[in-house]
Amino acid sequence: MSGTKLLDAIRAVVGARGLLTDPADTAAYTQDWRRLYQGRTPAVIRPADTAELAEVVRLCAAARAPLVPQGGNTSMVGGATPDADGSQLVLSMARLNRVRAIDPIDLTMTIEAGVTLKAAQVAAAEANCLLPLSISSEGSAQIGGVLATNAGGNNTVRYGNARDLVLGLEVVLPDGQVWNGLRRLRKDNTGYCLRQLFVGSEGTLGVITAAVLKLAPRPRETAVALCAVGSAEAALELFSRFQAHDPGAVQAFEFMSGIGVGFVLKHIEGAVLPLGQAGGPGRPGSAGQAGVQYVLVELATPRPDGGLRAMLEAVLEQALGDEIVMDAAIAESEAQRAAIWRLREEHSEAQKREGASVKNDVSVPVSKVPEFIRRATAACEALMPGIRAVPFGHLGDGNIHFNLEQPEGGDPAWFLAQDHSIMDTVNAVVRALDGSFSAEHGIGRLKPYMMPDWRGGAELGIMRQIKHALDPLGIMNPGKVLP
Ligand SMILES: Cc1cc2nc3c(=O)[nH]c(=O)nc-3n(C[C@H](O)[C@H](O)[C@H](O)COP(=O)(O)OP(=O)(O)OC[C@H]3O[C@@H](n4cnc5c(N)ncnc54)[C@H](O)[C@@H]3O)c2cc1C
Repeated sequence: MSGTKLLDAIRAVVGARGLLTDPADTAAYTQDWRRLYQGRTPAVIRPADTAELAEVVRLCAAARAPLVPQGGNTSMVGGATPDADGSQLVLSMARLNRVRAIDPIDLTMTIEAGVTLKAAQVAAAEANCLLPLSISSEGSAQIGGVLATNAGGNNTVRYGNARDLVLGLEVVLPDGQVWNGLRRLRKDNTGYCLRQLFVGSEGTLGVITAAVLKLAPRPRETAVALCAVGSAEAALELFSRFQAHDPGAVQAFEFMSGIGVGFVLKHIEGAVLPLGQAGGPGRPGSAGQAGVQYVLVELATPRPDGGLRAMLEAVLEQALGDEIVMDAAIAESEAQRAAIWRLREEHSEAQKREGASVKNDVSVPVSKVPEFIRRATAACEALMPGIRAVPFGHLGDGNIHFNLEQPEGGDPAWFLAQDHSIMDTVNAVVRALDGSFSAEHGIGRLKPYMMPDWRGGAELGIMRQIKHALDPLGIMNPGKVLP
């Protein structure tokens, strides 16, 4: 089938509203959030439901036309961007946006892939439940994208990754068949666990169209504090103290370098640091060594008489006395809580405005986080004088976003061209500490070249066999995940 005939056939399925071909309309779908990749596409297909989507995939399989599933297009690794040859069709999930059911007794939500994570959280809250997945991009990221990347985020320390929240999936397979696995069972040992195959597969094995997610009871009490600490070691010590006190209460434990918070204060309008002089922003370049670093700790409980505030104060008072914490501010209102979280949530945006950055989303054993930050900072500074390490992220689960900002006044294009040598420098430290080069952002288009080195031999062989078994024509998100 020619390209034009295929698009005509697709239009007959999804209607004129479901097919964008004008470059002015498709432009937003062909560039990734980080602006690392500029692709081309003949069309963006926007099916309205699973049946339409399945028919589209059947047509594309018959025509051997490659498809790139796209959710909120917030991938940090270029996973949802078509390549530059102009043959890949973008499959947008935006119109599959219904919450199908919420059951507060089962504590489950059945939801379509195109619902944004934020809208899903709101729907859960309206049913007096909590969808315990929270990431800075939740206003744009969609349920399908979040599952396809096995997103982690701020609450992993307590509730696990997206993977841990999935009970069932509905998936359109690469030949157009629909697999309805929308079960909401807590126990179901009936052969291989297919749903987990699609979670984290980044659109390379099929298209997730709906999911059953686990909910949690809605917290009745929350307490948030921002703490200034003198080092990542002190941040880890503080984490251990909270965990020892009540591990079930720690909902988020986020680390931020002084330089990263400095970027947020510089670039994000209205951002403020609610700390006195002792907790002032660290001096530039101090990441991982000296200078002020920050920790955001959030405690939550569904118990009505949780006593969280008292617990927060008790742990912080002791830590201040022991000089683990230099200064701390506890949020007294929802507005103050949001202002503290803003310092963390705006890190990516602030770094983008500061200049070009090379991102590393790595994990190491929690106990090794301080050593990782120290060694990786030193290694990068040795590689490139003036480079600025901006580590931040989910210290509570060992996942640090070790981002490197270009030297001040340097050429962004030249800096970005060094990405492989910078990532390799960081990853040498990650490997020495038994970590992973991709903790929560996935592989996408940016990192398949690392797979043979990190996941070679039997592991990569099995992945290739799975890909071939499900997608023998290779039409699902080509060029992503596997080298
Ligand atoms: C500011 C910012 C902060 C972020 N913070 C975090 C964080 O804390 N934790 C974290 O884990 N990630 C984070 N991310 C990364 C990103 O938001 C997540 O990877 C998110 O899960 C992607 O969702 P999306 O809908 O935007 O997916 P997209 O970017 O559209 O797609 C991501 C991948 O999933 C595939 N895909 C999308 N939808 C489907 C579907 N329905 N079926 C099959 N495949 C599909 C795509 O082909 C692509 O490979 C952040 C990103 C930004 C920009």
